Amino acid sequence: MDLKGILKRLEHCACGQQHTFDIKAVEIGHGVVDRVGAILQEAGFGKRLLLVADDHTLRVAGGVLPSLQQAGFSVKKWIYPNLLYARAEQVREVEALCADVDAILSVGTGSLNDICRVAAKNCHKAFCIFATAPSMDGFAADLAPIIENNFKTSWPGKQPDVILADTTILANAPTELKAAGFGDMVAKYLGIFDWKVAALLLDEHYCPAIADLTMESVKRMLSLADRVTAQDEEAAGSIMESLVLSGLAMKLAASSRPASGAEHAVSHYWECYKLSRGIWPEFHGKKVGVATVLMNRIYRNVAQRVEHITVGTSPLSKEEVLAAFTPMQIPEVEKINAFAIAGRVDPERLVKKWPEIRQLAMSFLPDDGELLSLMKRAGAATEPEEVRVDTDLLIKGLRYHPFMKSRLLLTHLFPMMGLDVMDFLQ
Ligand SMILES: [Zn+2]
Ligand SMILES: [Zn+2]
Repeated sequence: MDLKGILKRLEHCACGQQHTFDIKAVEIGHGVVDRVGAILQEAGFGKRLLLVADDHTLRVAGGVLPSLQQAGFSVKKWIYPNLLYARAEQVREVEALCADVDAILSVGTGSLNDICRVAAKNCHKAFCIFATAPSMDGFAADLAPIIENNFKTSWPGKQPDVILADTTILANAPTELKAAGFGDMVAKYLGIFDWKVAALLLDEHYCPAIADLTMESVKRMLSLADRVTAQDEEAAGSIMESLVLSGLAMKLAASSRPASGAEHAVSHYWECYKLSRGIWPEFHGKKVGVATVLMNRIYRNVAQRVEHITVGTSPLSKEEVLAAFTPMQIPEVEKINAFAIAGRVDPERLVKKWPEIRQLAMSFLPDDGELLSLMKRAGAATEPEEVRVDTDLLIKGLRYHPFMKSRLLLTHLFPMMGLDVMDFLQ
């Protein structure tokens, strides 16, 4: 990946913000697995490595170990049987192994990367991810979702110094994971839409160059939709590149805005609901893809059907909102205080800007039928049942997700516009 080209493109950005990142190298390609040792050597990694993986990821990335040995690395291994959740306990486990190593190499995706990301930051170690599936866009992130007390929050982590992936391994990853990566990327339409809305209504800082960079990568990935379910190295590599770039865009914008909007909040609601009841929440990108279909449809329907708005006080009471969360979640929700976020929007300005917001939704967000067709061709989930979300949870997530998000989403304003999200689902 041409990191220098990206930085060059954003040098002296017209938005006035300075954009930087910490990543030194991203290599996604055929045969990268055999060059891991050489690449880390070139990147200046110390010789003592802690390799964190699970049985499955170490097996599929078997070439990593000989390549490290050949380059003279000594490797301490910490292998989980199968790590589905990134919990605070696992972060502590990895941290406890860090005293006598120079760097952490995380072989895998998701939870394996997340626990290592936090440990690398806390223990001040160099950090490399060798990705085994293009399943979500957190690779380049400097935050990690970690579960503590059955509640998931973002912990500060280290942005990897090096991100590696071998397209043969990516192409052989299960279709469910590749399609999840696809689902996490179509979400960017909504992330960027909500970002633009916040810029229009609250003058939130918005960078068109970062939005463009993200959308170019989304479109490149969409053009390969038909090849996601095949063992196609180009398609898998392109999804991976898009996912890394999306993480980079967050770092460049110093905000999650380019990558997540109302759809991520809906998915997060479903996830926290299930976690608090001990239920497997499904893969991140798979849920996000389904939530994207729903929110995209709702935003487009609102834009098409609601020509004029009147703005009043919110018909939602605080009691009703809090009843949609578990006692353990309530302090987190109170901290965010989404009622106050909506209250920051000037009603007159909202009425004045409404035609522009409608126009934006209709011109920028994808057509429902086209989006569905692309996702189905890519093997991605599109229906709530596919991520085990029943009608009750569907309604709760669509109605109450804004109360988990500290930045303005258009859905924060539905109650004061007198709109019920459920009226626009069809
Ligand atoms: Zn900019
Ligand atoms: Zn995501």
